[in-house]
Amino acid sequence: MVIRNMNYLSGLKNRDLSKEICLLRVDFNVESAKDAFRLQAVLPTIKFLLKRGAKVVLLSHRGRPKPSKKLKVKSSKEFTLHFVAKFLSKKLNQRINFINHFDFKKMKNAVEVAPPRSIFLLENLRFLPGEEKNDARSAKKLASLGTFYVNDAFAVSHRENASVVAITKFLPSYAGLLLEKEIKNLSKAMKKPRQPLVLILGGAKISDKIGLIKKFLDKAKYILIGGGLANTMLMAKGVDVGESLYEPGMIGFAKGLLEYKNIILPIDWITDKNKILDIGPLTLERFKEIIKKAGTIIWNGPMGYFEDKRFAKGSIIIAKAIVRGEAFSVIGGGETTAIITNYQFPISKNIFLSTGGGAMLEYLAGKKLPGIEALK
Ligand code: ADP
Ligand code: MG
Repeated sequence: MVIRNMNYLSGLKNRDLSKEICLLRVDFNVESAKDAFRLQAVLPTIKFLLKRGAKVVLLSHRGRPKPSKKLKVKSSKEFTLHFVAKFLSKKLNQRINFINHFDFKKMKNAVEVAPPRSIFLLENLRFLPGEEKNDARSAKKLASLGTFYVNDAFAVSHRENASVVAITKFLPSYAGLLLEKEIKNLSKAMKKPRQPLVLILGGAKISDKIGLIKKFLDKAKYILIGGGLANTMLMAKGVDVGESLYEPGMIGFAKGLLEYKNIILPIDWITDKNKILDIGPLTLERFKEIIKKAGTIIWNGPMGYFEDKRFAKGSIIIAKAIVRGEAFSVIGGGETTAIITNYQFPISKNIFLSTGGGAMLEYLAGKKLPGIEALK
């Protein structure tokens, strides 16, 4: 299943990397260190590199700050990566050199004189003019810091950014351990999935998920719909959803889906103040029956407004049914994976939590991700 015309970091298993400096693109785009799932996901890659003696320069963005004209970055709580340095230092039991400027000469110097196994973390890359423009000159400057490049940021691989795409032109480039795991598991769910294949979709907007729905309309035995998506579908069916969250512009698309018998809509729901905020108990029973018999499950999007405990039941029960089940299951999306990690559901081997939100949706919809293409 693994894409062959691509270099994988795992292929360097037997190499001495003590003379190498790895530029490692990761996804540290989290609210806080409490959001540990994404931060922890790249620890195996960092450890793999350290074990073989490499110096590691970590590259990430966080949020969307305005690019800075000055070399020294004036960051804020909202955009800094400083707390990630603290988190990593605890987890890896070693000093993390946090760099809060983009003076490349100075940086290069610091990295070069540091001993093997040193770790550097650069401040939010989106302060660097050129990062979001996939600018070759910015990429070249970044590339000058290392001797090889590893992309371990699956969640950013759908973005044409300098540290994801353009940088691969200047250095030998590899897919990291996490990226490899994502590709393997997502391909497993897409190509020859164990039947019956069940897609579970919720969340806010149906427009985010059109590609995925179209791709799986003929492949999935069932597509279970909850959340704001269900509201839009119910509207299309002529149900009055009151002041519920739905997408007026998507009613036409939703109407087209109504004729597909494999699309299963909620039959009851929980309301408050004229809003549908969760799926109801009868729907849950129906969904649970289908989940029990599934061979493969892909789940993206909460079943309701789960941030309020009163409306979290649908999402929690679906999460439990999946993690306790036997199906090979892929669960992705920022909010969806938070349901699993917040409630600390035990994860067995048949469950894969994807670190990708938008990237996972695009990958599963069959789109080519520029960050992955660039590694080929
Ligand atoms: P993910 O981040 O997992 O991809 P989305 O971003 O698509 O998921 O959607 C998550 C959001 O959808 C959550 O904030 C949740 O509160 C909201 N949501 C789901 N169902 C409803 C609903 N019935 N009414 C209001 N908001 C909802
Ligand atoms: Mg989201």
